[in-house]
Amino acid sequence: MASLPRFSVVFKLTILLQLCLWAQGYAIDESCSVPHITAAMAEVREMAELARDQVVKPLDRVDNTKNMLFPWAMSAESKKIQGYYSKVLSQIPWDVTNNQMIALDRVTIYCSDASLIPLDIDNALGESWIDTKSTYVFTDRPHHGNASARFCEEGENAVSLTARNNNVVLLCDAVLAGAPRYTVKQKYDLGELTIGLKIQDFAVVAFTLLHEVFHVALSSTMRSGPAEIYGWDACTLPSLSTQDTMVNPDSLAYYGMALKTVQMGQMVKDFFFTSGVLKSRSDEEIKAMFRAAEVDVLMIDSFR
Ligand SMILES: [Zn+2]
Repeated sequence: MASLPRFSVVFKLTILLQLCLWAQGYAIDESCSVPHITAAMAEVREMAELARDQVVKPLDRVDNTKNMLFPWAMSAESKKIQGYYSKVLSQIPWDVTNNQMIALDRVTIYCSDASLIPLDIDNALGESWIDTKSTYVFTDRPHHGNASARFCEEGENAVSLTARNNNVVLLCDAVLAGAPRYTVKQKYDLGELTIGLKIQDFAVVAFTLLHEVFHVALSSTMRSGPAEIYGWDACTLPSLSTQDTMVNPDSLAYYGMALKTVQMGQMVKDFFFTSGVLKSRSDEEIKAMFRAAEVDVLMIDSFR
């Protein structure tokens, strides 16, 4: 009998601890592979940390990725960009504490739009969608009264739903179909990161998630909808200014992914980062640069 009160204290403490964790965690819808999304979110966090620490430093680690994405960023602008990464890191919960249900007070990740169907097809309630699993109703995008409309539009990678503090990130088939790579590290481990591969061809879920968490954490600051600039080539157009790109989720996500790849290049000596301006060089030029660098990524700076 003596052990009963102690058990009860432990039990209460456990509940308390769980409640604390719940308040900080993100949720994953049952449509997701939990290990894969957990790994991707861990890498998203790493990317944001690397970018937060690096963006205020004068020297880019490899090539001039920072100058391409945030051209001629002045120190005040770099500080502002750093603040965006910091905000993402402090606002987004980084531990999975709930699987299989929507959690409206936290971030919930869906890995399919299959359970979302148009609700009021006669528009009686305004256009809305119902998640048939949770019965939660979303009103964030139109379906134009089309009863068979899909929530994700053709070719769309992801949707962030931040109205009414939903904080839902929905990954679409386009980004998860086939054999998706969830992290840069996974791509490396599978031998798919090779010399000459362009950053715009990385195609990892962590990149998409990093893009989306900027919408979630900084929804009123970030460009969204038609104002967004998508893709490496568009994000690095010489006509853009840092003012244009510092609030553009793809630009911020590319910088984080670039730095994560550099970090891996330093950890595993046989791999080199090939992003940024390298995309405009031939394979022979790239190989010459790597030879000159003698497997020391940092030397690529001085090579330039
Ligand atoms: Zn976006």
